[in-house]
Amino acid sequence: MKHSLSILRRPSEYKKIKKNVLLARLTTFEVGGKARFFTEAHSIEEVKEALAFARAKSLRVFVLGGGSNVVIADNGFDGLVLAVRIRGIMTEKHDDRILVTVGSGVVWDDFVIWSIENKLFGLECMSGVPGTVGGAVVANLGAYGAQCSDTFVSAEIIDTLRPFGRSDAENESWEVQVIKNEECDFSYHDSMFGRESGRYVVVCATFLLSTGSTTALSYKDNRFDMASLTAELGHTPTQTEVRESVLNMREKKSSLIMKGRRSFKSAGSFFHMPFVSQEQYIEIVKRAKELDARKEELLRPWAWEQPDGSYKIAPGFLLEYTKFQKGYVQGAVGISPLHTLSIINVGDARASEIAELARDMKHTVEKIFNIHLEREVEYIGDIH
Ligand SMILES: Cc1cc2nc3c(=O)[nH]c(=O)nc-3n(C[C@H](O)[C@H](O)[C@H](O)COP(=O)(O)OP(=O)(O)OC[C@H]3O[C@@H](n4cnc5c(N)ncnc54)[C@H](O)[C@@H]3O)c2cc1C
Repeated sequence: MKHSLSILRRPSEYKKIKKNVLLARLTTFEVGGKARFFTEAHSIEEVKEALAFARAKSLRVFVLGGGSNVVIADNGFDGLVLAVRIRGIMTEKHDDRILVTVGSGVVWDDFVIWSIENKLFGLECMSGVPGTVGGAVVANLGAYGAQCSDTFVSAEIIDTLRPFGRSDAENESWEVQVIKNEECDFSYHDSMFGRESGRYVVVCATFLLSTGSTTALSYKDNRFDMASLTAELGHTPTQTEVRESVLNMREKKSSLIMKGRRSFKSAGSFFHMPFVSQEQYIEIVKRAKELDARKEELLRPWAWEQPDGSYKIAPGFLLEYTKFQKGYVQGAVGISPLHTLSIINVGDARASEIAELARDMKHTVEKIFNIHLEREVEYIGDIH
């Protein structure tokens, strides 16, 4: 179980800044033009050197992880794309739990598999989510009742707005700061890093994982209930069984991009789940029943009351009252045949087509239900 994080600190081999690199192949949507400048950073030193390069040339910087939550503009990104590829896993015992520090460039699902192989608990429900550990922290990745912030302890980050050292760009350096969970302002699918996209580079993250011998039975959300899985299996599910069950559910909902499984080119759910007041909820029920009462009944449950009295609404339910149904196609983009919330690239889609479809979906829902859908996927560059 002992791994080394020394890779994080290894002396710089950073020499390569490439020009005009096509970004589409680095994203799960497989859409987007070229980066004016592009580099991969495998260590903190390489991150700093890339930032110094950008500063010297007055370039904007976009930090890329696995490219699974972004749409990149057709005309690309006129700045430096810094792909963080810092790897390595280091462990430290902490009472009956283990502190695990992971390079932000580690593929999230590889980290989940690693935790299962090492009988460390807390990540298994988040199996199969694409992207990197860095991207997971930024988005406060969440799935099936668990979220990154449940086990996240701290991260080492570089705040690009706070350089220190000598002022001439050549020698400029950036401080690595440790930022704790409570300072990250995590919320549902968001964090302070996500709210200020481009400002911070997460270089590694530390999680506290349990060595307890059973999976937490508390995992439950509107699509998954660990207690039901336990009943179905007749025993407390092993981590591998939880993972398998989650991967199967994800595949059925087109929320998986994995070799050997049915996959689509997408960025997952395109819109956030809206939270509405009780009055708004009542209005939605009324409107849906007016339009098609039977459909409303068939699609239940589609809203979940929250402890504060608000309601979490499945955007897919709202979309069921529009023409944007599963399998809908508009040019080279469409909606997954398995999931109304997932916009997919069905051919050689352009970012502008994705944006147009998303806009149409959003406006239609607004018109019918007066509900504002917020984009979960981030637009990078010039997208209208
Ligand atoms: C099929 C599919 C299913 C999905 N299912 C889920 C799900 O169940 N739950 C969920 O929460 N999300 C889901 N997503 C969305 C996405 O996978 C997550 O948001 C993921 O955590 C993004 O990570 P990434 O490395 O791909 O980030 P990217 O898409 O590369 O970047 C996203 C944002 O994070 C920033 N970023 C990335 N790495 C760093 C870093 N090291 N330092 C600073 N900033 C960084 C980028 O600048 C950008 O602002 C899904 C996506 C797909 C394609």
